[in-house]
This record gives sequence, C-alpha cells and structure tokens, in this order.
Amino acid sequence: MTPPMLEVRGLTRRFGGLAALSEVSVRVPAGRTLGVIGPNGSGKSTLINVVTGHLKPTSGTVLINGRDLTGARPWTVAKAGVGRTFQVVKPFRGMSVRENVMVAATYGAHGRTAADAAGLATDVLARVGLAGQAGRAPAELSVADARRLELARALALEPRLLFLDEVLAGLRPAEIDPALDLIRALAAEGVTIVVVEHVVRAIVEVSDEVLVLHEGKVLTSGPPDRVMADPRVIEAYLGHRYAR
Ligand code: ADP
Ligand code: MG
Repeated sequence: MTPPMLEVRGLTRRFGGLAALSEVSVRVPAGRTLGVIGPNGSGKSTLINVVTGHLKPTSGTVLINGRDLTGARPWTVAKAGVGRTFQVVKPFRGMSVRENVMVAATYGAHGRTAADAAGLATDVLARVGLAGQAGRAPAELSVADARRLELARALALEPRLLFLDEVLAGLRPAEIDPALDLIRALAAEGVTIVVVEHVVRAIVEVSDEVLVLHEGKVLTSGPPDRVMADPRVIEAYLGHRYAR
C-alpha cells in the first residue's frame, strides 16, 4: 500500500507555557490538496515550520512519503522533495530575483547542472508571472511579486509536497484567481499541496479536504462544504472577525 505523502501524528510544539500546536494528526494522500484554515495564532505556520524542519517538535511524528523525518533539518526535508513558502518572505537580499530562483533550482532535490537550473529558473519565473522582473532586486518588488518570488523559489525545488503559507495575503482581488489557477495546475500535475490561508473562499475552491485549527488543536476536518457549514467553525471565525 502506498503511504500518504504526509502523515503527522500527535504533533505538539510548545513555546514555554504555550502549546502552539497540540496533538495534531493529519494525513494527506499523494496528489491531494489539504486546506488548513484557522484564526490568527491558531498554529498554522507552526505546523508548516515543524513539518519542514524549521522548528523542532516537542513531541509527535512526521512521516513524508512513509519516511520518518521528525525533527530533520530543513535541508534534509527539502531534499526529500518538500517545498514551502514563508509567510514572511525570505529572499536572499543581495541577489536578483532570477539568482534567488537559481539557488533553489541548483540545490534542489535533483542535483541539477547549472545549465539545467538556468532553464528551470526561466520556466518557473514565467509560470508565476515574474519573467519581466527577473533582473530586479527582491527589495524592489511589490507585495504580490514578492509572494510570486517566494512561490517561484519553492517551485524551483520541483517539490512532490508543497506547503503554501498565506500566499494569497496582500494580493488584490484580481490577483487571487490567477494564483488559485496556479495551485490547481500544480495539483493536476500530481503535486501534493498543503495550503494555509485565512481567505476561506479560496481554500474551499482548491482543497479536497479542509482542516480547521483552533488554539493549536484540530477543531474539525473533512470535505470543504461540510467543514464550512459546521457551526463551531463559523463561531471560531466570527469570534476572530474573519467571517467571509
Ligand atoms: P498562525 O500561523 O495560525 O497565525 P502561528 O503558528 O504563527 O499561528 O502561531 C501559533 C501560536 O504560537 C501563536 O500564539 C504565536 O504567538 C505562537 N508562536 C509562534 N511562533 C513562536 C515563537 N517562535 N516563539 C514564541 N511563540 C510563538
Ligand atoms: Mg501564520
């Protein structure tokens, strides 16, 4: 039997007395898209950070495609085919947009030559709509373009499992649909995606399943329509003035 692309069991991360994540368990079959929603501070970014090696778990297990990568370093996780974006974008400031993507393309899971990496960087920049900005410094980019660069860097790793941390935040309404189209296209290519957002409409449109975090715990999970009709979910959102 094929293992799920991502399986998290009883994952807990404490910061002093605060349980940012508490006994969270999730399974994402290969090729599926999981939406993770929850109010600000509910543990969404912490979940991504623990799975991708940027934070150590306090307890629990992380399996990626059946392989135990609990507490592994970010680079080990990336080499296992996992890409991610950061909610607060983290480009290399001294490099151009293109060079930023090249770094990821060169050192990704597949150990590419410089020529192959250059071709991949060109493809990825075109795909996210940044071809015209390739020579710029990251600091010159608009909010939307900085998010596109963040996505391009993740895609340049050619991930099998991709975590997107609020990639729609700060986009204008007209910019959201193209971003959703790109997420759908990646899913259609077989990439397993975990998309974290507080824009609920977007999650419902692209996710096969939705998981709701609340104060570090799983409030509920299931098909998008059922989850969004759950009174506890509506209350959690209304309580944090995120209703849409
Ligand atoms: P979300 O992404 O859902 O908004 P986070 O995962 O960023 O939530 O944060 C969950 C909780 O953990 C919040 O209460 C936040 O303040 C806390 N937290 C996150 N990172 C740290 C950290 N490095 N040190 C201390 N507390 C943190
Ligand atoms: Mg967050």
